[in-house]
Amino acid sequence: MTSNDTVPELLLQDEALRDGLQMESRIFSLEEKLHLYRMLRNAGIKRIQVGSFVHPRIVPQMADTDELIRTIGREDDCEVSALILNDKGLERALSCGVSHVSMSVSVSDTHSRKNARRPAAEALASMTALIREAMTAGLDIRAGLQCVFGCVYEGRIAESAVLNAAEKMIQSGAREINLADTTGMADPWSIRHLVAVFRREYPDVLISLHLHDTRGLGLANIFSGYESGVRSFDVCAGGLGGCPFVKGAAGNVPTEDAVNMFESLGVPTGIDLAALVEAVAFLENTLERTLPGRMRRVLANQKTCT
Ligand SMILES: [Zn+2]
Repeated sequence: MTSNDTVPELLLQDEALRDGLQMESRIFSLEEKLHLYRMLRNAGIKRIQVGSFVHPRIVPQMADTDELIRTIGREDDCEVSALILNDKGLERALSCGVSHVSMSVSVSDTHSRKNARRPAAEALASMTALIREAMTAGLDIRAGLQCVFGCVYEGRIAESAVLNAAEKMIQSGAREINLADTTGMADPWSIRHLVAVFRREYPDVLISLHLHDTRGLGLANIFSGYESGVRSFDVCAGGLGGCPFVKGAAGNVPTEDAVNMFESLGVPTGIDLAALVEAVAFLENTLERTLPGRMRRVLANQKTCT
């Protein structure tokens, strides 16, 4: 990016290649993933989470994350990111040369036992050590907390548990905390409340939001986060995805619908909506089904009307 380019005031990080594809029974080939990555990058997405370093037997959809990252290489106009959940993941991240990583644990003990196969406290303790290690190795890291707005197994999660986990991640060096509504239980007011608490407690820490649209409140929640001062959101082309351990979970807010909302509000995204819906079309054609995002059909109908 040159210094003359307009720097958008917000970052929409697309997660279709990770949070989206990890849920699909159809495993995308490396070529298909590369094609999707390039379509998203060419549409103007500035950070793309392309996969996770998890055991290939547990999540075979992500088995080629290392190879995908090596094939993409370093890019000037788009940051490639991946998700790390354990020490083996960090080892793989360092060996394939990815520059940005999300390092995430659940604040719900039950969800942690299902998703990471260990209690939340144990996962947190090892993740804080890994964050230190990753930062020492020069990785650009984003710490993340899953289920902060509630958990389908445990209900409401105590704010003190969320703050305690965040505190430990910040003490280990994290400068950004991603608050994830893994099970889609947040509402605009709970977003406003928790973001306000974080901005008060940790004024120097960047807050980003990862919101699932399970109950149809995704866009309202993004808007609430934006009004509360958040400028970084995870989204997913087409609204692909869910959570393998949360029955009925929906994907992240569709990237194209978030772009449409922000542009309608006069907030520049730097993303070309027409090019983005081409990526959604590729996903729908490959998966042979309609995805939840609205804007692909809105633009297609506009074309047939003119
Ligand atoms: Zn998610």
